[in-house]
Amino acid sequence: MSVSPLSRVLCAECFAALSALDDASLARAVATPVTLPAAFIGTHTVCHSCQSVRRVGDAHEAYCALHATGLVLSVVGWASGTSEALRDDLRRVRSRTNVLVSRLLAIAARDALRMSRGGIYNAVDTVVAHIPMSGATGADVFASVAANVAVQLGLPFIEGLLARDKRRSTRGSVAEARARIASNEYRVVPEPGTRVVGRRIVLLDDTVTTGHTMAGVAHMLRESGALEVLPVVLDRVVSARLLQRVTQRAADRCPHVPAALRSGGRPF
Ligand SMILES: [Zn+2]
Ligand SMILES: [Zn+2]
Repeated sequence: MSVSPLSRVLCAECFAALSALDDASLARAVATPVTLPAAFIGTHTVCHSCQSVRRVGDAHEAYCALHATGLVLSVVGWASGTSEALRDDLRRVRSRTNVLVSRLLAIAARDALRMSRGGIYNAVDTVVAHIPMSGATGADVFASVAANVAVQLGLPFIEGLLARDKRRSTRGSVAEARARIASNEYRVVPEPGTRVVGRRIVLLDDTVTTGHTMAGVAHMLRESGALEVLPVVLDRVVSARLLQRVTQRAADRCPHVPAALRSGGRPF
């Protein structure tokens, strides 16, 4: 039997098993729960803003982009082979993944809304937006996921809010270059942008590594008149050193595909 590259990403059996889980079990199976490992208790703590682990007394605030922007990130969990496989799958525009990822993001978004103003929100004061993700065809594959999350939350979706900013110069000082990296060269599109004024934005992205893109975009939305930004992502990338200490981890490998068929030793 031949194994297509797609079936190596996340096998149908694993996918079906994930889809059958209830919300809490699904979240734990896809991404590793954010919990300080026992070995780190007393010496480390979880950063409230970026959901990564920091050493007690270090200068984390100085380089935590999310902390600096006053954001509190909501995540399904720390990145695992399973969450990475789902993100790869999303780029290949598979509708089954859209359904599962939008369900996961809705779980994390409900947590974010619960933590903000006691979970009181309505379709006038709160809207859903997303950071575009280029798929295999170059089109934004994340828009339909974000629209799906909005339906699940009963909130309006602002489509086409952000565009890649091709007008920015590639020249400039180091400080300007850093600012460009921070915003990842996005800009708020004026017409959809008017719908952020005075509203709380549930801002969806697939993942957070450094937090600079999320912080840059959140800053732009506030500059455009948003009252508050609630960043929500599928997974948060953390160090392998940290994950090695975690006892309850989401699966990194599909047990059904022989190791020899897994591409380049990557998970799944
Ligand atoms: Zn499998
Ligand atoms: Zn942090």
